[in-house]
Amino acid sequence: MNTIVKKETEKTLRNYANLVVKIGANVQKGQFVVITSKVDCAYFARMVQESAFDAGACDVAINWHDEKSARTKFLRADDEVFDEYPEWMVDRHKQWDEKGAVYISIISNDPDNFNGVDPSRLRRFSKLANSKNKAHSDLTMANKLRWTLCAVPSPEWAKKVFPELTEDEAMERLWDCIIKASRADGDDPVGEWKKHRESFVDRVRYLNEQQFDLIRFTNSLGTDITLGMPKDHVWKGGGSFDKDGIPFNPNIPTEEIFSAPDRMRVDGRVVASLPLAYQGKLVEGIDLTFENGKIVDFKASSNQETLANIIEMDEGSGRLGEVALVPSSSPINKMKTLFYNTLYDENASCHLAIGKAYPNSIKGGADLSSEELLNRGINTSLIHVDFMFGTADMKVVGIRADGSEVVIIEGGEYVF
Ligand code: ZN
Ligand code: ZN
Repeated sequence: MNTIVKKETEKTLRNYANLVVKIGANVQKGQFVVITSKVDCAYFARMVQESAFDAGACDVAINWHDEKSARTKFLRADDEVFDEYPEWMVDRHKQWDEKGAVYISIISNDPDNFNGVDPSRLRRFSKLANSKNKAHSDLTMANKLRWTLCAVPSPEWAKKVFPELTEDEAMERLWDCIIKASRADGDDPVGEWKKHRESFVDRVRYLNEQQFDLIRFTNSLGTDITLGMPKDHVWKGGGSFDKDGIPFNPNIPTEEIFSAPDRMRVDGRVVASLPLAYQGKLVEGIDLTFENGKIVDFKASSNQETLANIIEMDEGSGRLGEVALVPSSSPINKMKTLFYNTLYDENASCHLAIGKAYPNSIKGGADLSSEELLNRGINTSLIHVDFMFGTADMKVVGIRADGSEVVIIEGGEYVF
């Protein structure tokens, strides 16, 4: 047992690990499992590994990485290194995918890890890595394989979230938040999650039946944006199904109901309500203006260059690939904590994502080519970056093709 785990009992952490395996990845008998973990949270990765074997996994590979040595590399390696990506790393994913792997990623990033690193190195290397790993990421985003993200505190992350506490106290607090937000604090987290999944069904069905033509968001921060919705768009929430119909939860926790807007029909201004933590940089004060789906003007009060790198990455990174509804009463929002981590912050607030859309955001989308998806209004890009813009005074209106309107969210809460 790691010494940084003080208050949380081993039983609670094992329940959490088991939840990630059973509800997140939904590991089946004979399944091959890949766990991606920082070396610092090896103690938790090992628990997940044991749970996966308990659930019947035939083998578990652990893909270890280390943020601190990655930082040193970005600071000190020769410049041309960041224009090379080893083929064996691509082949490894290909072989895992062919074995029918499910992927469990344990997130524990230091939000400031890449402060001071040359942004051009980060941009070049991430663009290269994303394009080399496109086949694998396409399978993931189309839910052709099962995958899940969960989080574990690191001292650097915990201190960023709770700077007024000592490192040990901050770790305990962040563990508390993660366990509660993940609904892993009771005796039967797996049972709790089955109920949680059910709680989304009626609202998701209603939104899918309505087939709104437009969705308009307004609030006092200055957001006034209208999103055109593609024909046969699909809202999802509370979990997904893979290509064989096996349920899984890509994110633990999850509080959102999401779809994709039409890549050509977004107009207006959106002002972010939370900073965006991206590749070890914190982008604050994001303010975007859209015309015909495209970002035509943008600014940020800090790390604007990082925002520019995101928006200018490729053809599709100046357009939207996701719209997600999250009520103010989300248990994560009620923690009134900025987590500097998308997995947590996106479940506290309505959000949009720049870049690639999930193909399943329209009916039958998983079986369409990129070109067919583009023609249907579904965006494609090498990146998918969520940013939060929800507030307690958010108003969201659904507008039908005949012009009639229905309020969906008022004062930050669902009204349907
Ligand atoms: Zn989302
Ligand atoms: Zn997203």
